[in-house]
Amino acid sequence: MLDVPSETLLTTADRWLADFETALAGADWPGLAALFHADSHWRDVLAVTWDIQTVSGADRIVEVLKAHASGTKLRAFTASRNRTLPQRVTRAGTETLEAIFDFEAADGPGVGVVRLVPDAADGGTLKAWTLLTALDGLRGHGESIGKARPKGESYSRDFRGPNWLDLRQAAAAYTDHDPAVLVVGGGQAGLAIAARLTQLGVDTLIVDRYPRIGDNWRHRYHALTLHNQVQVNHLPYMPFPPNWPTYIPKDKLANWFEAYVEAMELNYWTATEFLGGSYDDKAGQWSVTLRLADGGEREMHPRHVVMATGANGIPHRPDIPALENFAGTVVHSGSYDDGHEWKDRNAIVIGTGNSGHDIAQDLYSAGAHVTIVQRSPTLITNIEPSAQLPYALYDEGPPLEDCDLIVTSTPLALAKKSHQLMTEQSKKLDQALLDGLERIGFKLDFGEDGTGWQFKFLTRGGGYYFNVGCSDLLVEGKIKLAQFDDIADFVAEGARLKSGETIPADLIVLATGYKGQDYLVRMLFGDGVADRVGPIWGFGDGQELRNMYVRTGQPGLWFIAGSLAQCRIYSKYLGLQIKACEEGLISPDRS
Ligand SMILES: Cc1cc2nc3c(=O)[nH]c(=O)nc-3n(C[C@H](O)[C@H](O)[C@H](O)COP(=O)(O)OP(=O)(O)OC[C@H]3O[C@@H](n4cnc5c(N)ncnc54)[C@H](O)[C@@H]3O)c2cc1C
Repeated sequence: MLDVPSETLLTTADRWLADFETALAGADWPGLAALFHADSHWRDVLAVTWDIQTVSGADRIVEVLKAHASGTKLRAFTASRNRTLPQRVTRAGTETLEAIFDFEAADGPGVGVVRLVPDAADGGTLKAWTLLTALDGLRGHGESIGKARPKGESYSRDFRGPNWLDLRQAAAAYTDHDPAVLVVGGGQAGLAIAARLTQLGVDTLIVDRYPRIGDNWRHRYHALTLHNQVQVNHLPYMPFPPNWPTYIPKDKLANWFEAYVEAMELNYWTATEFLGGSYDDKAGQWSVTLRLADGGEREMHPRHVVMATGANGIPHRPDIPALENFAGTVVHSGSYDDGHEWKDRNAIVIGTGNSGHDIAQDLYSAGAHVTIVQRSPTLITNIEPSAQLPYALYDEGPPLEDCDLIVTSTPLALAKKSHQLMTEQSKKLDQALLDGLERIGFKLDFGEDGTGWQFKFLTRGGGYYFNVGCSDLLVEGKIKLAQFDDIADFVAEGARLKSGETIPADLIVLATGYKGQDYLVRMLFGDGVADRVGPIWGFGDGQELRNMYVRTGQPGLWFIAGSLAQCRIYSKYLGLQIKACEEGLISPDRS
């Protein structure tokens, strides 16, 4: 039980922060260790280590703080007065005093979150359970927003000189120079990092192979709306208007992307494909080749390449025995557009993730006779309320910036625990649906150690479905279900089951996912770079997503991906690192 009266939450937080600062400044390592629970976690986001890393256990936390003590000059810790005030909350099932605080790091202002819980083994003394230290900006290199907005003097006072449009067009044309940063991919990840860098004054160009900004969403299936709610999905700097629908339709988001590029003054070349590149260690720059809209090529020499190519780059087509015998049409889900031409015809959808279910439902509603084939157990959860549980924070009142900080301050161990609890809650909420699915032989799972869909997303990018109706159609028998293991082979007319029966098909959709970023890196940059970088996304044995949003084994090569919220949150830190490289504060070589 957390026994702290509400009126003293602020002073309690301030006291812990003052003790922390005093112990650090005085190199009082035992005193510092005594401020943390034995089982505690410190996540540093650039402020101390210029890395994103989580350190667990009081002894190890002190060890790492000690190692960085001389360089970091951490000081001026105080609970924030102008943000969400210290509060008593329950996180991952534990009641805690959670306080947002400000401090000064060596390279700029910092913000953090500390969570204090009583230590029963030490007379109930409040000690840190989790600590976040995050760099919030670079001293002397602020963003050009608010009071620091551009004054526009260069084009508003000189009547004979170039006006704003002339300057914008010249900046985006790159006729006489190359950008410092080339962002490959202009979806949400590319837009978010380009917006951050542009605000930090780093010359940045986005290239995307699609002919029109937003096509990455426009080309998805007809009925698509976002899976989580509008308040979670804002891009940096420019929130969606307050009249927007709870679940944003894909074309509305696509059009917003166009407006965003215009409003945020981002340099964006459409119909431009990144073909690959190599890094010159001595010069500290890339030689990259772009295929341009007119079919020509352009070589560029940016110092940084940010891969924002998403997970949907290269379709994964598993080796399905005898599929070549099938006489009908076979498409990967990435090329599937609309079901109308399959009315009254037979379709098989292989794969039971989001794409498989959504495409099956699209085909069914277009009048096709559909069978879904399940290859492996799948997590199913209703889109509402279950799939929204992880975002409850964004609905509880703290401003977006504070919600993002609280999310950032959640170390892996707590995130896992929270998601286990939410998965249990979802199971109860979804029980009728899950029972129905089991009745028809659908194989369910709930993620590794019951950590649910979020961890499936973070570890393998799929393996779950947010039910917007397809599961109900399966339970009602309106869409049929078959198990992949029951298929003997494919024949001209469809899939022949081991029972001898044939599932007829005119169309087979392979909703079998996409190859990972690692594959793309090997293809675009060669074995040397791919081996230096190593695995991308997922946690491996660590506590952070591998190679995401931080310096990688290949100087000048960066990765950003994830949900709209992840892109909004981590683009900030990725932007700060690239700016710090540009200003000579850190080296692009992390070794
Ligand atoms: C039905 C559905 C609902 C979803 N709902 C949500 C939601 O509610 N909230 C949420 O956060 N996420 C949601 N997502 C998931 C996720 O946000 C998207 O998958 C998102 O598109 C990922 O963004 P991205 O910028 O990383 O990659 P992408 O959108 O895939 O963009 C990558 C871009 O890179 C370009 N590209 C790739 N290779 C090259 C190259 N060599 N040269 C030039 N350009 C290249 C591509 O053309 C593409 O435009 C949903 C996804 C689906 C399918």
